Amino acid sequence: MFVDKARIIIKAGNGGNGAVSFHREKYVNAGGPDGGDGGKGGNVLFVADDNLSNLVDFRYKRKYVAPNGEPGRSKLCTGKSAPDLIVKVPRGTVVRDAETGRIMADLSGDEPVVLAKGGKGGRGNASFKSSTRQIPRFAKPGFPGESFELSLELKLLADVGLVGFPNVGKSTLISVVSAAKPEIANYHFTTLTPVLGVVKLDDETSFVMADIPGLIEGASDGVGLGHEFLRHVERCRLIIHVVDISGIEGRDPKEDFEIINRELSNFSGELAELPQIVAANKCDMATPEQIDDFRNFVTEKGYSFYEISAATTAGTETLMHAVAEKLSTLPPVKQYEPEPIPMEYIMEKNSRNFEIRRDDDGVYEIEAEWLLPIMSTIDMDDYESLHYFQRVLRGSGIIDKLEEMGVEEGDTVDIYGFQFDFVF
Ligand code: GDP
Ligand code: MG
Repeated sequence: MFVDKARIIIKAGNGGNGAVSFHREKYVNAGGPDGGDGGKGGNVLFVADDNLSNLVDFRYKRKYVAPNGEPGRSKLCTGKSAPDLIVKVPRGTVVRDAETGRIMADLSGDEPVVLAKGGKGGRGNASFKSSTRQIPRFAKPGFPGESFELSLELKLLADVGLVGFPNVGKSTLISVVSAAKPEIANYHFTTLTPVLGVVKLDDETSFVMADIPGLIEGASDGVGLGHEFLRHVERCRLIIHVVDISGIEGRDPKEDFEIINRELSNFSGELAELPQIVAANKCDMATPEQIDDFRNFVTEKGYSFYEISAATTAGTETLMHAVAEKLSTLPPVKQYEPEPIPMEYIMEKNSRNFEIRRDDDGVYEIEAEWLLPIMSTIDMDDYESLHYFQRVLRGSGIIDKLEEMGVEEGDTVDIYGFQFDFVF
């Protein structure tokens, strides 16, 4: 079964609690506080793995939980930080936050991506000792690890996508120009899963081609097969539109050509905009008149036209060189950038609770769990990013509340361990 969509839950580890403990030694009584900090919870990391070709594993295992950090111990021992949980996904997996729909990552490269950050450990009582507080009998709990429901979608990474009606010879074509060996048979919908093949022309020139299950009329409306697979063409840089011009299936190649293009534009404007090269296949079975007629039809529309016979390989090499040439003029394969959490979503959460407490040191401590995922997307060293964060705090009523509590310029505000000076 080819699975290219899945929904899973990930949860990073919580930070370990800080310890409350006092130094004990023979003959020494009333030792000072020596409770250590808790360890950090494990992150959940995603990494692209080329040994995986689809998302089927995620149908069976739906929860991915990184371990928690260990609690702090006496004698100032910091708890052990937990290891990260590494989740392997097929290359080309696009990860979205299921709740907001925003893109969190595109696992197309080799770099692992942190999708849920582990919580920081809580501070042990030793760190609360001060001149005015000799015997702190309290410590802080660890911070919770982030957790998300994710929707995963595999969008194959291919330079060229083969598109066309069933049985026009797409699978035959990829099998003669690459090492890919999809099933080929004289009945419709033999190809039920997308197949990738590398076309190598010489030492410097190669590209990846995708054979996508055949489209039929209405596919973009969800009729039959095809619609589901169109998303795999979305990243392609170029489409080879394969048409059977022999008429042996009793169809009209011109009509086929128009129908497929309509399906593409019904699916998305972007697909319709992709450059296309037309490959008129089964030329070995077509008359010169059929070929000329179709050539005139497509060249008038401004497409470049190649006549081939995938079965005999006639014309396929010329076609592949034309494809390589065209690709060299096109932008690289599309990568999806992570998106910020939509502002409307945050505003909608206005009603979400927060709690502000003033601790003994005069620090304003804010607790609002819904802020955690937002904080993880913010780069505190970046002005734009901080500005956005301030708007979030304002929009949620947190700043109003701080002012109500009498906050003054320069007071320390602490949100889950992130501290900053308050400015009006
Ligand atoms: P797909 O559904 O587009 O992937 O089509 P296939 O590659 O599975 O081919 C469908 C049928 O057309 C098979 O029986 C192939 O052998 C046949 N076929 C493919 N290319 C050619 C060709 O160039 N000439 C002829 N005569 N038959 C072909
Ligand atoms: Mg096929």
